[in-house]
Amino acid sequence: MSVKEKMLEILEGIDIRFKEPLHSYSYTKVGGEADYLVFPRNRFELVRVVKFANQEDIPWMVLGNASNIIVRDGGIRGFVILCDKLNNVSVDGYTIEAEAGANLIETTRIALRHSLTGFEFACGIPGSVGGAVFMNAGAYGGEIAHILQSCKVLTKDGEIETLSAKDLAFGYRQSAIQESGAVVLSAKFALAPGSHQIIKQEMDRLTHLRELKQPLEYPSCGSVFKRPVGHFAGQLISEAGLKGYRVGGVEVSEKHAGFMINVASGTAKDYEDLIESVIEKVKEHSGVTLEREVRILGESK
Ligand SMILES: Cc1cc2nc3c(=O)[nH]c(=O)nc-3n(C[C@H](O)[C@H](O)[C@H](O)COP(=O)(O)OP(=O)(O)OC[C@H]3O[C@@H](n4cnc5c(N)ncnc54)[C@H](O)[C@@H]3O)c2cc1C
Repeated sequence: MSVKEKMLEILEGIDIRFKEPLHSYSYTKVGGEADYLVFPRNRFELVRVVKFANQEDIPWMVLGNASNIIVRDGGIRGFVILCDKLNNVSVDGYTIEAEAGANLIETTRIALRHSLTGFEFACGIPGSVGGAVFMNAGAYGGEIAHILQSCKVLTKDGEIETLSAKDLAFGYRQSAIQESGAVVLSAKFALAPGSHQIIKQEMDRLTHLRELKQPLEYPSCGSVFKRPVGHFAGQLISEAGLKGYRVGGVEVSEKHAGFMINVASGTAKDYEDLIESVIEKVKEHSGVTLEREVRILGESK
């Protein structure tokens, strides 16, 4: 029996797409094919896929909203598990529990509907809950670490565990999940009662700031680089004269130099070359070495 036949038999009923191009799922609109792109409808399906992949020694990885990744043009071997159908969100008192694939922005709106405060900072971050925990996503002084109470994970070996925020060793755009290779299945956020009107005003203010400062009309992965201590990446890039600097179809945004936008059918190679070049030029100009925030995955063509 071929691996594909075995897969179809053992993973029967699970939505698996073969040789699926990833550029249509990714915020940067670049990337080659996934060998097997899977859309589990619940955590049991996800566990079945991971167990099968481990047994057959097939590589696997999970994605949320694909808003902080660049998939290389040669694509990703093995299984890519997209969590967007695991998206249940429930509210219990001042706590929100969300499955990994729940949309982060939608989750902040649910907090607003229940007049719960603490989640406003994330109202414009286009990730999933799982991706946000993995990255310790943050903005405007807030970050996931400030509100996460606990999360359920599937370990690399297929065990389900509950971790407290302390176990996640959060740092700036950093969490222990990045080292462990576990999958976030769901997260519990501890919020506080607030005024619907004040929460809404704050979310409107932050949305307005984003629209004003970020090139949201173009494909991008948000800020390409982490904030270097004592500096702002966008400012360093701008001061090095790199606004509008372009490689292939990807350019440094004129509106926000920390963003690289796909303006003309750019490729992952364009992104990688532009990133390398910007790192080099900023180092030359200011002496600061920029560190990537965006994650680059898969194989080159
Ligand atoms: C326009 C724009 C604005 C942005 N603004 C911000 C911002 O203000 N602040 C900020 O922090 N980020 C920002 N981002 C980046 C991005 O939205 C965040 O990093 C987000 O948390 C990524 O979530 P995701 O679901 O898209 O993750 P993905 O891009 O799908 O994945 C990112 C990484 O997380 C891993 N991952 C995803 N889901 C899981 C899971 N369930 N379990 C384990 N690992 C997982 C993936 O394997 C991958 O390594 C922005 C991006 C864009 C495009």
